[in-house]
Amino acid sequence: MALTGTIVRPSVEAWAALPRRARVRREGTFAWLIGVLTTAGAFIADRGWESLDDPAWAGAYRVIDMFGLASILLAVVFSVFGCLLGRHALVAAPLVLSAAAMPHTLDGYASAAVWWLGAAVSALWAVIAAARSWHQLRAVWRLAQASLTGRTTAVGPNAVRSGNRAFRRGLLRLLLFLAAACGGWALAFGMLPAELGRTYEELGEESSSSFFAAAGTAASIMAVAEAVRQGWRGFAMGRVGRSLVWEIPTGPGVVSWWPYARNDAGQLPMDAAEAPGCNCLAEFHRSFPDAEDEVVGDQGIPASDYCPLHGIDRINELTAGEFTALAEEPWLWDAGSCLPEPADPDASRLLLYGFAGHTFAGIPVRKHPGSVDADFPDVHPAHEVDPEAFGPGWDKP
Ligand SMILES: [Zn+2]
Repeated sequence: MALTGTIVRPSVEAWAALPRRARVRREGTFAWLIGVLTTAGAFIADRGWESLDDPAWAGAYRVIDMFGLASILLAVVFSVFGCLLGRHALVAAPLVLSAAAMPHTLDGYASAAVWWLGAAVSALWAVIAAARSWHQLRAVWRLAQASLTGRTTAVGPNAVRSGNRAFRRGLLRLLLFLAAACGGWALAFGMLPAELGRTYEELGEESSSSFFAAAGTAASIMAVAEAVRQGWRGFAMGRVGRSLVWEIPTGPGVVSWWPYARNDAGQLPMDAAEAPGCNCLAEFHRSFPDAEDEVVGDQGIPASDYCPLHGIDRINELTAGEFTALAEEPWLWDAGSCLPEPADPDASRLLLYGFAGHTFAGIPVRKHPGSVDADFPDVHPAHEVDPEAFGPGWDKP
């Protein structure tokens, strides 16, 4: 499963200047607000507070009534819970409002124009958001082209697997939504024949078929939203992500917060523990008689307080200059402390595999001899952060 990745190394300034999607929450919230306003507008246009007139009350239940009632139910549910959908609301809002506009137009309701207006505005908003996404993807692609190092590296199987995991999960969600949609529609059309021709009075003011039709429509819309998201992600990954390994600065940028970090403080690498005179390994085996060397080999062992090479006395003997020169050695530090980091964002680089902008922020990987790989399979992708939230405590003298 290993593949070859091209290494790109953007400059600190270019990385910090990459367009962000800091307004992503606002994008979804605005789409939801369009839905709320349209639903309220349609209620006013149809004078929904008045009781049903006689023909509607005593009239027979028709197929169009199922779609109409389902769409109103859906619009109300979207108005209440749509703010929880995040980015999905961008795709969902125009679909929910169009689903309401169609039966209301066919049945000659006054609200039809309101529904269509809301659908058009929310569709326009979705197009604007898509254009912004496209703009960022192009910027990421241009930055990659401008930052090519000419070096390549093998990408290990853990990184590739973790990258595919996001797609697997998305496809699973898509299948679940499709199954729910089929179930909802099957139940709706299964109930429909028994309700057709009866009046609202006889149905007791509620109809099961319209309820299941609303559930079926909701699941169908979520399936479309998920398909759009995964399609866009697949396109972006194919275009810039899959074959690139980014060496990103530790300063502010699109991805500047590390989703997990391995804190090696207090640890001694295994090869250093093999130096003559070091008794860290002996001390470790005395404390953990059952530990196998192969198991700890990758992470190292805790430095012993009494080791002549790595113990407390040795550290106390160091001059300030010697200590500074060794400052990046993890064994100098207490196991409970954070390792020091250079204040210069260019000094140490973090590695990201598959970064493709906000649609997929990449898998954090580490350098191994001749390759890069994630620490374990199914590592979570990195997160894109709001630049205002970024304030490193260590970035001071
Ligand atoms: Zn030692």
